[in-house]
Amino acid sequence: MDFQILLYYCFVDIPDPEDIAAEQRAWCEELGLRGRVIVAAEGINGTVSGSHEAADAYMEKMREHALFAPTEFKIDDHDRHAFKRLSVKVRSEIVTLGLLVDTVAHTGKHLAPAEFKAKMADPDALILDIRNDYEFAMGRFKGAVRPPVESFREFPGWIRDNFTDAKHKPILTYCTGGIRCEKLTAFLKEEGFEDVYQLHGGIVAYAKDPGVQGEGFEGDCFMFDDRMSVPVGPPVSHCEKCGRLSARYVNCSNVDCNKLYFLCETCEAAKGLSCSDACHNVVRSREQNARLSPDLRSEAARLRKQRHRAKRRLALQSTHVRNTIGP
Ligand SMILES: [Zn+2]
Ligand SMILES: [Zn+2]
Repeated sequence: MDFQILLYYCFVDIPDPEDIAAEQRAWCEELGLRGRVIVAAEGINGTVSGSHEAADAYMEKMREHALFAPTEFKIDDHDRHAFKRLSVKVRSEIVTLGLLVDTVAHTGKHLAPAEFKAKMADPDALILDIRNDYEFAMGRFKGAVRPPVESFREFPGWIRDNFTDAKHKPILTYCTGGIRCEKLTAFLKEEGFEDVYQLHGGIVAYAKDPGVQGEGFEGDCFMFDDRMSVPVGPPVSHCEKCGRLSARYVNCSNVDCNKLYFLCETCEAAKGLSCSDACHNVVRSREQNARLSPDLRSEAARLRKQRHRAKRRLALQSTHVRNTIGP
């Protein structure tokens, strides 16, 4: 466990995002950190991995920075990097809701894990999971509802069309680390929802909290790094091949399919990572071609040489013929 993974965000007015991005890139490169950092005029959002020392040094730099001192870090130990490379980008938003909201003035009330757990017991409360469908499928709070939208930026439209009856009810939102809640609860309040709460630190903080220890959460928490997920509560997802409980999310080995689905270890050992017979066949024929192609290449080279030798022989023969049948 010599590595650490940091997850963080900070909503703060950034006058020159390009300058901050350049500074972040320089820091991360110097410290050997990998991961994703997004900078926008509204703040910074990042998840990076690196050695224990590098992670400490990065957090120290952030704490000393004029803009980022209040940043809270969620820290996980890991045995290696959780990202292949470093990406630092400037975007219009640090998490894309598709519209501007005032997260500083209007965001929903932050609840610590124990407070959130207590509030979930309120029979009037509506618990909204504001993540993607594949994250919800892997694990969620008991009783949570996930609106049928395809992406985070579709939430505002869905709420305006379907959810206005809930304006007087307590609304509890949660996401992985809290950043999506900051924006969506600000939107809810700007739309006239009165009683809006968000899980401070997200599922990640809820899982780590020594008091609640993930209670009330079912399954794993999807993570946007090489870990894919971290366990929080008892598993709820099932292997798509055999139906046994499994929280193993994998990508289909057919690169054109790449479907993300649940597959237990036993089924992977039996038939590999492909999601269907069709994908299994595609992968097999690709593997066969890959195995064949070196032979085919050398065979082609052999035939070319043979043709070349034959031509030279003919040429030599005809010279010989010309030489012998001279006038
Ligand atoms: Zn299985
Ligand atoms: Zn597939």
